[in-house]
Amino acid sequence: MTVSSASGPGPVTITANGHAASPASAQGLPFDAGCSACPRLAGFLAQQRGALPAYYNAPVPAFGAADARLLVVGLAPGLHGANRTGRPFTGDHAGILLYQTLFDQGFASAPVSEHAADTLRLIGARISNAVRCVPPENKPEPAEVRRCNAYLAHDLAAHPADGVVIALGTIAHQAVLDALGLRRSAYSFGHGAHHALPDGRLLIDSYHCSRYNTSTRRLTPEMFAAVFAAARALLDTRRDTGAA
Ligand code: SF4
Repeated sequence: MTVSSASGPGPVTITANGHAASPASAQGLPFDAGCSACPRLAGFLAQQRGALPAYYNAPVPAFGAADARLLVVGLAPGLHGANRTGRPFTGDHAGILLYQTLFDQGFASAPVSEHAADTLRLIGARISNAVRCVPPENKPEPAEVRRCNAYLAHDLAAHPADGVVIALGTIAHQAVLDALGLRRSAYSFGHGAHHALPDGRLLIDSYHCSRYNTSTRRLTPEMFAAVFAAARALLDTRRDTGAA
């Protein structure tokens, strides 16, 4: 387990237009289902509305209570997953391991997320993404990640100071740092790494639970379970001790 800690500048918000925001808007931007600030992604969504009219085909909101103590940050909606159902990690392969693992650790009411209208509830957990719109080939461009960072900043502004963030993959890890105004160079991504953030929160890294990573065994269910078990233990300890 790697533990790192570093101080960084105060929070900096990047607006949906990709510009630094004033301190007055450091809370980021609330989710906007009509956002079309990324021309490439807005165009791709417009294509999908024609090709796949039964799909959700819009920016996907975070799932779970805004003040949940565990915040899981993924990459972006999958074309046939979240972009189809409108709920993060729901409807394609990547969500199978995630929801099973959340359930095993008491963060979800059921082990399978079937669709956005099912009865599944997250328990003290929230799932968000670095990018809210489905990117072609699951690959958002850096400018798109930067633009969408204002929405992630909003999620992080509501996240409690004694909370834990799990970043799924390097892009999510960097997006969390950017949203908090922290230097990327001070916190290196590594599967299972724990990063103590200046505001008291803890950032834990994991390889993304993508089909590629799980089928190649880069990420095994045991490795993933260990990440969430650590988060569970830390959250329980922090609650018991009142640590922030
Ligand atoms: S990816 Fe984010 S910033 Fe870009 S259009 Fe979608 S919601 Fe807006």
